[in-house]
Amino acid sequence: MALIECPDCGKQVSDAAPTCVGCGRPLRAAPASSTVLPGSEQRPALIEQTSKSYKGQQLLAITGFCFGFVLTFFIGGLSDPNAATFFGVVVLLISTLLMINAKLGAWWHHG
Ligand SMILES: [Zn+2]
Repeated sequence: MALIECPDCGKQVSDAAPTCVGCGRPLRAAPASSTVLPGSEQRPALIEQTSKSYKGQQLLAITGFCFGFVLTFFIGGLSDPNAATFFGVVVLLISTLLMINAKLGAWWHHG
């Protein structure tokens, strides 16, 4: 059992205490000694990879949104409206599903 300094009020409190006796700050989540930045080195490679894959899916979804939007409202309005609009709506729908999947997947893996 050791004494640590509360990051909020500076009072010396036992590291076994769940909260600071001086100000009530929860101590378990962020001890004063760990000033690790949320960088890439500390994170497991698996989370890094899944995170990248979901970022890729989101990027793809956003690209799809733009593509579908242009197809539906610009190209669809100019020539052969039915085919272009239909294709644009399909692209928009797929992008929406992809975005939902990416968001849900990221939420599922990262909590
Ligand atoms: Zn305190």
